[in-house]
Amino acid sequence: MGGRVATRPYGLLTIDWLCRIIVAMIVEMQKGTTTNEVDAVVQRAKSLGFSVQLNLGTEKVVIAILGSNTGQVPSDTFAVLPGVEHVTRIMKPYKLASREFKSENTVVSAGGVEIGGNRFVVMAGPCAVESEEQLMEAVEVVKGAGAVILRGGAFKPRTSPFTFQGLGKEGLEMLAKARKHSGLPIVTEVVDTHEVELVAEYADIIQVGARNMQNFALLKSVGKTSKPVLLKRGFSCTVTEWLTAADYVLADGKAQVILGERGIRTFEDSTRFSLDISSIPVVKRFSHLPVIVDPSHAAGHFSLVPAIARAALAAGADGLLIEVHPNPKEALVDGLQSLTPSDFTRLMKDLRAIAKAVGRTL
Ligand code: PEP
Ligand code: MN
Repeated sequence: MGGRVATRPYGLLTIDWLCRIIVAMIVEMQKGTTTNEVDAVVQRAKSLGFSVQLNLGTEKVVIAILGSNTGQVPSDTFAVLPGVEHVTRIMKPYKLASREFKSENTVVSAGGVEIGGNRFVVMAGPCAVESEEQLMEAVEVVKGAGAVILRGGAFKPRTSPFTFQGLGKEGLEMLAKARKHSGLPIVTEVVDTHEVELVAEYADIIQVGARNMQNFALLKSVGKTSKPVLLKRGFSCTVTEWLTAADYVLADGKAQVILGERGIRTFEDSTRFSLDISSIPVVKRFSHLPVIVDPSHAAGHFSLVPAIARAALAAGADGLLIEVHPNPKEALVDGLQSLTPSDFTRLMKDLRAIAKAVGRTL
C-alpha cells in the first residue's frame, strides 16, 4: 500500500504500518473443491514468495498463506481464483495455532493414545528418571491407577548447575524399557537443539519446557521431527506468546502440538507458580490445539496438587501431566510436589467422577 493512504493516521499508527503487520491470509475453498483449484491457489501464493499450509478439514480445505508482507497483497489476488469461497486475514500474531486456520479441534495421536478427543488423558511419572528400579516401580503404579502415558525427564533444565541434571541417554534407554514393559507411550523433555534427534528417537511426545518456550532454535528443531510436541507455557509468557511459539513448531507442517499450562509467575508466593486456570478456556476459544495442565509444577507442594488437577479437568483441559514418585522423600528432583502412589490412586478415582460429570471418559 502506498500513496496518500499510506500516511493517513490510524490512531497512533498509520495504515502503511498496519499493512506491514504479518497478516496471514486464510483462503477457504468451496465444499467439493478440486485438487487443481487448490494447487492453483498454492502456486499463486508461492509465485508471490509466500509459504503455504493446508488444512484438509473434513468440511472444507483451508489454505494459510504466510509470509512477512502478506499484508501488502490485496485479498482479491486469491478471491478471484476458481473454487475460492472466502479470503480473510488473521491479524493475531499466531496463525497456524488459530481457530481461523482450523475451526475443528486437533486430536494429537501419540503412541496410540489420542490427546484432544473426548478421553481425558493422564500422563504421570517421576520428575526425573533416576534409576531403572525407580522408573519400573513408577510405571507400575501410574499404569495401575489409570495413567495412559509415562512422563520422566532424562535431560533436566535445572535452575542450578550444581543439582542433578538427569541421566541423559541412559535415562532415555530406561524410558524405552519402561515403555516396552508397560505398553505406555513416553513423554520426555529436550533442552538442547543438539539432542533433538536423539530424544525424538526415544520419545512418543517431545516436551519443550517452560524455560525454553521462546527458544526459537529449539522450537524450529523439534518442528522438523514428526513427533508430537508438548509445548509448556513459559512462566512469564502470555497466552498469545504461547500460541505464537506454537506456530514455530507447526511452521514446517510435520509436528503436532499439545499445549501445557504449568502456572505463571505472579506476586503470589504461597504456591510455586500461579496456575492460570483461565488459560484453558482462553486457549480453547482461540486455538484448535489440545491443552493439558501440569498441576505439580504450578503447586510446588503435593498437598495442593489434587485440587488443582480436579479443577483443570472441570475447566475443560484435555489431560494432565503429574509428577508421581514411588517414594517422594527419596526423589532427586521435585519430591515435595510429587504424589505418592496412594495419593495418585485416590486422585484418579476423584478424576473419574468429575470426568463423568463433565461428559468425558478417562
Ligand atoms: C518438567 O515437566 O519436568 C518441567 C521441568 O516442567 P516446567 O518446564 O513446566 O518447569
Ligand atoms: Mn519437576
